[in-house]
Amino acid sequence: MENSRFLLIALFGLVLFFPSCGGDEDNPDADDSSVVNPTPLAAFDEFNIDAVLVSFDGDEITIESNGLPNHTSPYWEETNPLYIEPVVAAHLTPGRIGGDRSFTLTVPAAPELATTSSATGLGPIGISVTGVPIFNDTEGPNRPLEEQIAETFDYAGAHNGPSGYHYHVESTDVPENTALSHDDEKLVGIMADGFLLYGRREMDGSYPTDLDGSGGHYGETIHSNGEKIYHYHIINEYYLGSIVVLFGGDLRGTPNNIL
Ligand SMILES: [Zn+2]
Ligand SMILES: [Zn+2]
Repeated sequence: MENSRFLLIALFGLVLFFPSCGGDEDNPDADDSSVVNPTPLAAFDEFNIDAVLVSFDGDEITIESNGLPNHTSPYWEETNPLYIEPVVAAHLTPGRIGGDRSFTLTVPAAPELATTSSATGLGPIGISVTGVPIFNDTEGPNRPLEEQIAETFDYAGAHNGPSGYHYHVESTDVPENTALSHDDEKLVGIMADGFLLYGRREMDGSYPTDLDGSGGHYGETIHSNGEKIYHYHIINEYYLGSIVVLFGGDLRGTPNNIL
């Protein structure tokens, strides 16, 4: 009698002493959206090393690109080995890939969601794994990607403009496309707020169902090694019947300038 009472008191003391025992630390349903995990470094192995230099400096990561893709396009000069006849483009915008360009983006190694989201502007809003800058869903001030513009995209979802060759939409599934994300879970690039942009699917092949208006959510990716990170997906929605915009929403983190 005396012994069992002592045992009860001892057990009670243990629970008080280790309050986390049986707590919700390992509860998969617990809301972990306040956890900020660093961007997995493995993601940067996906970038085209001929065009992109990634440097790590403490709590910052700098991505520097010359904007020259490692895939074929009708936007290359015809003398370039990567030049091909147009596969999907009905006509081309003026200018060709090349020139002495550079795009530099410095982001926090562990980006955080901002209290307010930011609309994207004209010009680069991210840098893709090929090194080509990512543009949004407009082609000029208040000018959406209308049919005549969509006709100028090559199979990579890009065309040429005053600031060079750039992507607006997801690549097309043609035999010529051997590298770029098309309706899959591959890494597409990194956005100006430091969050990664993935293809339309999750790593298990399913389409995510809990995306916010920017295509973002918390979850694992092929690079995060089981950790949940905030990341964007290409939203699985067709525009003008056949094209899928890479990123048409607001940035949920703090945008950094791409210079
Ligand atoms: Zn454009
Ligand atoms: Zn995801």
